[in-house]
Amino acid sequence: MSFFKGFAVTGKLPFKPRVTVQYPEEKKPKAERFHGRHVLNRYEDGMEKCIGCELCAGVCPARCIYVRGADNPPHDPVSPGERYGFVYEINFLRCIHCDMCVEACPTEAITESKLFEFSFVNREDAIYTKAELLVDDEGNPRQLPWEDWKPGDERNTSAWVRATSPSGAASLEGRPLWSAELGFGVRAPERGQSDPSSADYPAENDLSLREMVPGQLRAVHVSDRRPERGRSGPAEGDG
Ligand code: SF4
Ligand code: SF4
Repeated sequence: MSFFKGFAVTGKLPFKPRVTVQYPEEKKPKAERFHGRHVLNRYEDGMEKCIGCELCAGVCPARCIYVRGADNPPHDPVSPGERYGFVYEINFLRCIHCDMCVEACPTEAITESKLFEFSFVNREDAIYTKAELLVDDEGNPRQLPWEDWKPGDERNTSAWVRATSPSGAASLEGRPLWSAELGFGVRAPERGQSDPSSADYPAENDLSLREMVPGQLRAVHVSDRRPERGRSGPAEGDG
């Protein structure tokens, strides 16, 4: 009897939905907060977000980031700050994709894409330099010959940074607290953090900074959330 029961189980399987896909030609959607290959982001005007502060390198438990900052050229600044990331390298033979660098970064310069399909045949290729990490003039990651990007992958480079409701504060749920990105504007909150059906926070449609600022950012007052520390305004003689 158990013999026929076993056949019955097998016989039902062809009529059930398949859970496998034809990988790598076909890929399943990756998790919203999946940690993949890094990118260095730029502001909407094309300036680099990295200010060369080296916090990411300092916090990295695998010691795989090498950053050197330099003063911005006064007449041709690379970033809006005083300094910019002159050298930026990540050794992907060491990286454990913990995203501590992403958390430490004060300017949202370094984030992770969803790409994990990349491999190397020599150590040199495993060390990504700024030329490879910095997004292109459209704001998309540069796609290297040994990486397997699929259409749509290039859009998902900062989702988990766009988690809202920091510290569990429900009043901040769905309010963007991040800056605009080249080619994308102010990205919508990641799915699941706010109602994806809400017209104010469409999960699929990112808004430009111009569209987002009047509706959302003016309602957020940093001083309401964080006590002032140190100097709170321009010192005498400043600009
Ligand atoms: S993800 Fe973690 S291990 Fe990789 S570079 Fe960032 S801090 Fe270092
Ligand atoms: S990526 Fe962020 S944390 Fe790292 S040096 Fe640049 S600004 Fe600093």
